[in-house]
This record gives sequence, structure tokens and C-alpha cells, in this order.
Amino acid sequence: MNCDKCNDTGTYKECLNQDAFDKEWDRLDHTGLSTINIYDESMDAAGYNPITPCPYCKKDPKYYRESKKHRKLW
Ligand SMILES: [Zn+2]
Repeated sequence: MNCDKCNDTGTYKECLNQDAFDKEWDRLDHTGLSTINIYDESMDAAGYNPITPCPYCKKDPKYYRESKKHRKLW
């Protein structure tokens, strides 16, 4: 993974409610879900503001869609 801020999707999720996010994360922490799934579910629960392109890796979703396509060809 190149960017853990957008999970290589090109969309950074700006959390709108950090308390709700932390609470949901704690609730899901021992359920056996992967970190990415816990992250996504917690973001959905807390609400977020999607920002594209990702301000950390500066890539947009199209870039990652293309790069995943290329990876499959290899
Ligand atoms: Zn990123």
C-alpha cells in the first residue's frame, strides 16, 4: 500500500466526528475484521467528507483505478 490516508483509493475521508469514529473503532476492534474494514465502517458510522484527490499522496481515484488494472495484467 502506498498511502494509508486514502487506502490507495485516491479519496481521503475527512472524519466529521472523531468521538464517534473512536467509539466505533473500539467496538469493532476485536471482531476479526481487517483494519481497512474497521476503518471504513467507523468512517461510515462517524460520517465523513470525501476529498479528492487525496491531499497526502496527491493522486485521484482514477489513478488508482488505472494502476490496479495494470497490476492485474502483470
Ligand atoms: Zn492518498
